[in-house]
Amino acid sequence: MTGLVYKSTGSWYTVKTHSGETYDCRIKGKFRIKGIKSTNPIAVGDYVDFELETNNNQVSGVIHNIHDRKNYIVRKSVNLSKQTHIIASNIDQVFLMITINNPPTLTSFIDRFLVTAEAYSVKTILLFNKIDTYDEETLDEVRYLAHVYRKIGYECIGVSAKTGKNVEKVKGLMQDKVSMFSGHSGVGKSTLVNAIEPGLNIKTKEISTLHSQGQHTTTFAEMFDLSFGGQIIDTPGIKGFGVVDMDKYEVGDYFPEIFNLKQDCKFNNCLHIKEPKCAVKAALDQDEIAFSRYRSYLQIVEGDEEHYRTDNYEQ
Ligand code: GDP
Ligand code: ZN
Repeated sequence: MTGLVYKSTGSWYTVKTHSGETYDCRIKGKFRIKGIKSTNPIAVGDYVDFELETNNNQVSGVIHNIHDRKNYIVRKSVNLSKQTHIIASNIDQVFLMITINNPPTLTSFIDRFLVTAEAYSVKTILLFNKIDTYDEETLDEVRYLAHVYRKIGYECIGVSAKTGKNVEKVKGLMQDKVSMFSGHSGVGKSTLVNAIEPGLNIKTKEISTLHSQGQHTTTFAEMFDLSFGGQIIDTPGIKGFGVVDMDKYEVGDYFPEIFNLKQDCKFNNCLHIKEPKCAVKAALDQDEIAFSRYRSYLQIVEGDEEHYRTDNYEQ
């Protein structure tokens, strides 16, 4: 039988078949997935093959195969072991929720998020929420940012989880897809998800640093069915979007506008900082590349590693 993993406790997995039956499954023997060193072999979002067995009249499943993943996101533990934990896999899209204020979302945060999502091959859609509260000047800022991000290929939607503006549109995009929601605490993730699927009380709230300090928090992602088709993956307690160990020469590959120009630079190992005849710098001078994007690129290339990591690590 084949099924989709909805929940994992570390030793047991809740697996649902295409026809809708749910089984508790465990793993047979040891699994090793090519190229991934992680503490957990199976994650929410995985497609697995399993066989049923009966013990004391209880039917459960034994997983013997995992299908190839189209993508996956990981979390690295902050402690010395630096072990990788796969949070979720086979994600069709992540909605990054952004508010201009209450709370403010900085472009550096957006860009770091997008770089990570690109590195993970996860499609991101930007949702500018709380547009019902913005004055004309703030709306201009939303329009400007939407222009910047649309130009480099990201879909941008202005929404209001409160008034329902464009909520149907987001719902339409979620139909028959596996989605995640991300963004700072307080941007309106729970409110929007509730407007889309009332009754689905996802626990998007991050665990506060204060609360979890010194504790070893084990939070697991969980997948939920949407009544109109598709699934949502909730990742309670996980701030940001995992971590990617990236070489500085790789960073530009995850900025679509830089990636598109890099073959025009004189040097093929151009970092687009001080090199002569750099196509990226030329485009920046022509305003073809947004300065905020270039600034984010520099921040990532030139280190600022700690900031990057604390943004993304498990708290
Ligand atoms: P989360 O931490 O991202 O899940 O954010 P919440 O969904 O808990 O929302 C935080 C606060 O913002 C709550 O008081 C919501 O009522 C409010 N909120 C969320 N979306 C909107 C919106 O579109 N407009 C307005 N005015 N308030 C909103
Ligand atoms: Zn260059």
